[in-house]
Amino acid sequence: MGTHINLLGACKMQPSMMMTRAIAHTGSEIVQFSRHFGVMAQFGKPPAAMTTTTLNFVKQQKSSDFLAPHRFSISEPLFMVMIPGQSQNARPGFGILEREKNLARSCARVCCCASISGSSSISSSTTQEGRDAAPSSSTLEVGGGSKTSIVPDLLQFLNKSWTPFHATAEAKRQLLEAGFEQLCEEEEWAVQPGGRYFFTRNMSSIFAFAIGQKYKAGNGFHVVAAHTDSPCPKLKPVSAASKAGFLNVGVQTYGSGLWHTWFDRDLSVAGRVIVRRKGVGVVHELVKVERPIMRIPTLAIHLDRTVNTEGFLPNLETHLAPVLATQIKSELLASKSETTSQTEGANGAMYSAKKAHHPLLLQILAEELNCTVEEILDFELSVCDTQPSCIGGARKEFIFSGRLDNLASSFCALRALLDTCEDAASLTDESCIRAVALFDNEEVGSDSAQGAGSPVMFQAMNRITRWLVRETPSEGIVERTIRRSFLVSADMAHALHPNYAERHEDHHQPKLHEGLVIKYNANQRYATNTVTAFLFKEVAKVAGVPTQNFVVRNDMGCGSTIGPILASGIGIRTVDCGMPQLSMHSIREMCGTEDVDIAYNHFKAFYQIFTTIDKQLSVDA
Ligand SMILES: [Zn+2]
Repeated sequence: MGTHINLLGACKMQPSMMMTRAIAHTGSEIVQFSRHFGVMAQFGKPPAAMTTTTLNFVKQQKSSDFLAPHRFSISEPLFMVMIPGQSQNARPGFGILEREKNLARSCARVCCCASISGSSSISSSTTQEGRDAAPSSSTLEVGGGSKTSIVPDLLQFLNKSWTPFHATAEAKRQLLEAGFEQLCEEEEWAVQPGGRYFFTRNMSSIFAFAIGQKYKAGNGFHVVAAHTDSPCPKLKPVSAASKAGFLNVGVQTYGSGLWHTWFDRDLSVAGRVIVRRKGVGVVHELVKVERPIMRIPTLAIHLDRTVNTEGFLPNLETHLAPVLATQIKSELLASKSETTSQTEGANGAMYSAKKAHHPLLLQILAEELNCTVEEILDFELSVCDTQPSCIGGARKEFIFSGRLDNLASSFCALRALLDTCEDAASLTDESCIRAVALFDNEEVGSDSAQGAGSPVMFQAMNRITRWLVRETPSEGIVERTIRRSFLVSADMAHALHPNYAERHEDHHQPKLHEGLVIKYNANQRYATNTVTAFLFKEVAKVAGVPTQNFVVRNDMGCGSTIGPILASGIGIRTVDCGMPQLSMHSIREMCGTEDVDIAYNHFKAFYQIFTTIDKQLSVDA
């Protein structure tokens, strides 16, 4: 087997970065990496900052250091050069390696990739098919000119997180990078004050928490919760369809999308796949096809003369199926892949999968996953918009993006937790537990094993509390903990729409750039009450951030959130709030940049001072 060395890119790692579980299936390539390190110079100039010292550092690493789950810190900036692979089985990295998948994938013969910290830069000498990585914080100007804005990082998060699986994987990567320890719900837990942990469920919900050093039995959880899912079309179990010389992809609608906005967009697919890997077994992997591979075309005005007067009323069963290819082009591939499957042997699962989905689609997935079509056992795919999230507006005051509802809240919550629990020292004076809970399936009512309607959050609180008091069990410890806990249910809110101002109640008209909207509903569609709103607004006062109020008009229906579900399911005091936005549930939503930073600062303050604020008011004493 000839050795093909391709320089896949060089990633600068920050000195402060911890690298955890760096390599698994790419192990053999890492061995090559050390051995061939000098070779890379033939394929591209080493980055200027690659000093002799860093070269030595890399050379000193034994292959076993990379292969085993291992943690080490680096003392100075380091460029890791990614290398080639000869093995057919090697796949792009995972976990914290996930981040560079796209960079790696756009190169030929990809077998491994690098990990980088949140603000690192990427220099690459490869030919990239895909778009450039989102700009780093230092290069992107944000409305308001704040140098500490988290908006650029939010854009990166949005662009990575096309599905709840990807959002969860990215949250997990950031938590691991920050040194949080991963727990598994199936294993025993041993947590302790000062410790920082998280677990995922179904790889679409995630719960992260940090225990104060001064934790005392019965002290509460301070949680910010949001959701990872957004409305979108999802592929049917049998998606292959064809009509009038086109290959269509059958989809079912997920949630209450503004489905007309999905027409005439450059679409693709992303989700999770079950793959059989040679020498590894059956594995759960994520896939994201970055290039636009399909589209839902509208009907021309000439064939639909009344559309502007009578409205665009697509039939969701017959009109929403994206077009993948023309039949004539797909037949070219079909004859090729039939020969392949005959020679590779019949596999029952794949035989049915091939019948169920267009071979062309399977081929694209296989290329993306660096496997054969036969190795794809099953998948769960969403239709996604390929247009990246971006800053917009004359003064750069807007974010234009899909999935703001509710990845914007998810990101602000996660980031606030990470930044207030950077290390054990940041928890020195904390006597409570800070947590983030991001749930799947909110858009369809939260009734799933990983949704807010499941006991996932209660079980986590129960387990953590019981373990922490295991040596001195006391009566009602979990119930007391819950009564002392507080939940911020964060979900996007409806900003006043300039062209439809009458849709808002006259005195409750949330505006962009004016902070988190506290949502009230007398009928408990939102869980906010006077006490929870008061306490959360007290946090805002101390943090110096604004808030605004919302109630829906009495002659209109009201949306809901995970707030009432968690409040009623767990019995936790809850405030419902959210950043104001427009175009909610459109494929392309918009919100204000300042509100993102306000929400982040509000959540940060909540984690840092709520223990003190909570002491101001006692209701049931
Ligand atoms: Zn939402």
